[in-house]
Amino acid sequence: MALSGLDIYKLLPKTNCRECGFVTCLAFAMQLAKKAVAIEKCPYLSVESRSKLEASSLPPIKLVTIGDGEKKLEIGNESVLFRHEEKFHRPCGLGFMIEDVLSDSQIKEKIAKISKLNFERVGQALEVNLVAVVQKGNDERFLEAVDLVAHESALNLVLISENTGALKKALERVKGRKPLVYHATKDNLAEVAALAAEYKVAVVATSPDLEGLSGLTQELVAQKTEDIILDTGKKSIQKKISDLTQIRRLALKKSDRSLGYPVLAIVEQDDPYEEVIEAATYISKYASIILIKGTEQWQALSLLTLRQNIYTDPQKPLQIEPKLYPIGQVTDKSPVLVTTNFSLSYYTVLGEVEASKVPSYILSVDTEGMSVLTAWAAEKFTPGKIADTLTKFAVGDTVSHKQMVIPGYVAMMSGDLEDECGWKVVVGPKEAAGIPSFLKNL
Ligand code: SF4
Repeated sequence: MALSGLDIYKLLPKTNCRECGFVTCLAFAMQLAKKAVAIEKCPYLSVESRSKLEASSLPPIKLVTIGDGEKKLEIGNESVLFRHEEKFHRPCGLGFMIEDVLSDSQIKEKIAKISKLNFERVGQALEVNLVAVVQKGNDERFLEAVDLVAHESALNLVLISENTGALKKALERVKGRKPLVYHATKDNLAEVAALAAEYKVAVVATSPDLEGLSGLTQELVAQKTEDIILDTGKKSIQKKISDLTQIRRLALKKSDRSLGYPVLAIVEQDDPYEEVIEAATYISKYASIILIKGTEQWQALSLLTLRQNIYTDPQKPLQIEPKLYPIGQVTDKSPVLVTTNFSLSYYTVLGEVEASKVPSYILSVDTEGMSVLTAWAAEKFTPGKIADTLTKFAVGDTVSHKQMVIPGYVAMMSGDLEDECGWKVVVGPKEAAGIPSFLKNL
């Protein structure tokens, strides 16, 4: 856990010798707390104080990387329990399990489906991250499946097997991809640690209880394996959520380094709806990787949308650039629709304008990323602001009419807006879904 300036001060020699470049030890401590200066600047720290300060400067949850290249997945490094305290930093990785007992054509079919699970929402790309090969058959078939999946998919790989011999052979084939290895238990710890050290890959440590998990990670670290992901195995949703919450709490609030690692959850439900509900629960709190069986588009889209919402900085709404956007084959007679620069507002309006097939302009007003009603209440979406935006982007030079459409929720400003800018103001629908019929009748 990060120390305060005063906590740090207590660990310093308090001689005010100035060799660190600061007038007092307290001034140095305050800068150290802000991470604006290095510990090494003070040459008089005791060994004990130095190790305490070094430990406090480490992230409470380790950053772990899976894979290599552009699509590599980085997870961990989280610093808060609740996103309103700051934000969650590293979006949870979403992956799909493929069992080696499937035929080659079935595996190819699944991979082809998984490769299509990419979406765009509010201007951001939503992508899945991992594909896991699960050994159910013999070693030979597992290796064939690993080869096939690695050949067909560029996603990060997870190798799941109870057999460390098979894991070693598989690692030899795909070592350049830096796959995640599942898993180290109390029974095979030394062998898996040796694989992690030899191939420089992250490993999953599995134990049903937190005490066992803590012991496993300490043993792995002692054997020079530091890229660890935790798993408490298959449990009821209530028990799993309890584990995930306790791990996060102990790492952040009790500075328990042995549990300061990202956490993986495997979700295997026969009912695809149950599977998504369970996976969504763990994405909300606090899984860093989710592996599921289902590969349906609706499953991936709902989980990726949830992930996007949870990992968006709550203090910085997603925004688009405020400007005049031409949609379709616009002319100088095309209608002008006014909205805010909150991404969700803009993209919702955009979708409906495109659906209407009526070429239009969307004027996005800078409301610091607030939605229509919030911005209006906060006086960020005012007649003056809209009039200034019309001028700034020379909308009057782009179209030959002087008529704009405002959202129905801010109909109350239409009179003031007409007075402010001299344009005719038409009140549009309250909900974006009404835009297509509105535009066709305009
Ligand atoms: S060098 Fe160390 S002992 Fe000297 S003033 Fe700086 S913090 Fe204090």
